Amino acid sequence: MIKLENIKKIYNKGNANEFEALKDVSLTIKDGELVAVIGKSGAGKSTLLHIIACIDSYEDGKYVIDDVLVKNLSEKKLAEIRNSRIGIVMQDFALVDDFSCIENVLLPLDFAAKKKSDRKELALAALKSVGMDGMAKKPVNKLSGGQKQRVAIARAIVNGPPLLIADEPTGNLDPKNSMEIMQILDQINQRGITVIVSTHDNAMVDYFRKRVITLDGGEVVRDIQAGTYE
Ligand code: ADP
Repeated sequence: MIKLENIKKIYNKGNANEFEALKDVSLTIKDGELVAVIGKSGAGKSTLLHIIACIDSYEDGKYVIDDVLVKNLSEKKLAEIRNSRIGIVMQDFALVDDFSCIENVLLPLDFAAKKKSDRKELALAALKSVGMDGMAKKPVNKLSGGQKQRVAIARAIVNGPPLLIADEPTGNLDPKNSMEIMQILDQINQRGITVIVSTHDNAMVDYFRKRVITLDGGEVVRDIQAGTYE
């Protein structure tokens, strides 16, 4: 469960270029939900997702994930939360380009805690779940954008996180590849993983009608759940 209460995010606090990117955001996202976060460029979508993903801090309010208050935590503790609970997918894939698919997916696995053969099995299973197991040994720089995003999703889920956060995952993809990525995210959600996706893409909003949160100027201006969507 994710609970944000009156979250305020201020960039460059105390400087002339101080900017309030999130004003007073309160939200609850239950386990297993599929949520699309939409809004114009600059609305605060990435900022919100980065806070939920524990990769950015906030100035005021409270963020609680699974009963852990994410405030003033050490970098070590934050990394621990990210590694055990959160998979992250970015618009630009953020893969190591000259590594193969499987090498990229192996990266987040704990080398100390798991045997090499187990790690390989987990990585192949994650690649299989996104339809990329046949290309495990191919270098990422030989893949199309859609294939790269599939590998990025495999890397995000290989540790079995209960939460997947995808920031504009189809932003660099054509409509066909975008639809495939949406279907994969939907399948991941159907396996019980909470999925939070930010998007500009209207096709994606139509596809993810279960819950759509609209941000504008750093505020939640609409929060519509399935059944109430016009
Ligand atoms: P979105 O994802 O909806 O496009 P962002 O969360 O990226 O919006 O940005 C929200 C606002 O915060 C924008 O006006 C952006 O310019 C500003 N912003 C984002 N990151 C920073 C930063 N590191 N420093 C200063 N301002 C930032």
